[in-house]
Amino acid sequence: MAIPLVDLKRQYQSIKSEVDSAIRACLDESSFIGGRHVQQFEEEFAGYVGARHCVSCANGTDSLEIIMEAMGIGVEDEVIVPAHSWISSSEAVSSVGAIPVFIDTHPGYYTIDTSRIEEKITHKTKAIIPVHLYGLPADMDEVMRIADSHGLKVIEDCAQAHGAAYKGKKVGTIGHAASFSFYPGKNLGAYGDGGAILTNDQDLAAHCRMIANHGQVEKHDHRIEGRNSRLDSIQAAVLSVKLRHLDEWNALRIKHATKYTDLLAESAVTPRSTPHSLHVYHLYVIQHESRPRVVTSLSQAGIGCAIHYPCVLPLLPAYAHLNLTAVQFPNSVGYQSRILSLPLFPELTGREIETICEAVISA
Ligand SMILES: *Cc1c(COP(=O)(O)O)cnc(C)c1O
Repeated sequence: MAIPLVDLKRQYQSIKSEVDSAIRACLDESSFIGGRHVQQFEEEFAGYVGARHCVSCANGTDSLEIIMEAMGIGVEDEVIVPAHSWISSSEAVSSVGAIPVFIDTHPGYYTIDTSRIEEKITHKTKAIIPVHLYGLPADMDEVMRIADSHGLKVIEDCAQAHGAAYKGKKVGTIGHAASFSFYPGKNLGAYGDGGAILTNDQDLAAHCRMIANHGQVEKHDHRIEGRNSRLDSIQAAVLSVKLRHLDEWNALRIKHATKYTDLLAESAVTPRSTPHSLHVYHLYVIQHESRPRVVTSLSQAGIGCAIHYPCVLPLLPAYAHLNLTAVQFPNSVGYQSRILSLPLFPELTGREIETICEAVISA
């Protein structure tokens, strides 16, 4: 029985009639860019997360970039990012001309180690991008305390954490602005690329919307040079359908993660949630001393697995010019050779989890 890391087909089968009719409505209307589907999804998503404004855009990397551009972050500025994340978190910083300043990972979780942020703050620092990696909220009280005391902006990277909550508040409502990705495999994924910016700041939202739409405030009224970054109507229509299922899917992810943790407690280091957080398990990541053996055992059983991510950001060739070394990121580099993501998606069955755990344990 082959078990993929993520199975988007099973999810489609479970909501096929809803999705097909939503897409058919777009085709019938032949409205492909903008229009009621996009506006409706923006309203629904803002309502779901609990933010005042939602500006949709083309993907979750653009949303980070657009937020920073709207905040006036650019050349000569520095932005604090975690060393352990997907490259978008730091790539977006470089794209606006600023310099990413990497911080090591918390020793017990996979989010930014807030105790190491203040030593990296300089007069050039403008913002902090906490990433709610794998679906676990970063320590936002500390991030906000540090940001407030140094006059910094906080941009939450929520690409892996749709629906996650910190002390009863959904992530994406705690910082000054938040970035979401709707890449197909995310907890809320479109059938193509998509992204969104959430904020309670009306001026910031308006500025982001202008940047994402060629600098226009109205048709042909270009106040600045912006860019083209939009969510297609078909993607918005699919997202509206899928948003209705998000809580139920996140609950299943949590249930599966709990079962994994029960079965693997003796054989691997299992992921933990902080006591005041709702972890939505975008990924279920274990640590294992003999990762190559586990990977072989899973592959032989036809089970998918992956490493998120095989190299910490500061040590990638892309950042060679910053001359950073492994000793500066001991926690992140320590995990790097041990972390392994096991299959996790809402439609996974209990029997499949048992099969996967048997393969891990036998290694
Ligand atoms: C997926 C992801 C993004 C950006 O996603 P896009 O593929 O550009 O939509 C940003 N940050 C993190 C942590 C991600 O996982």
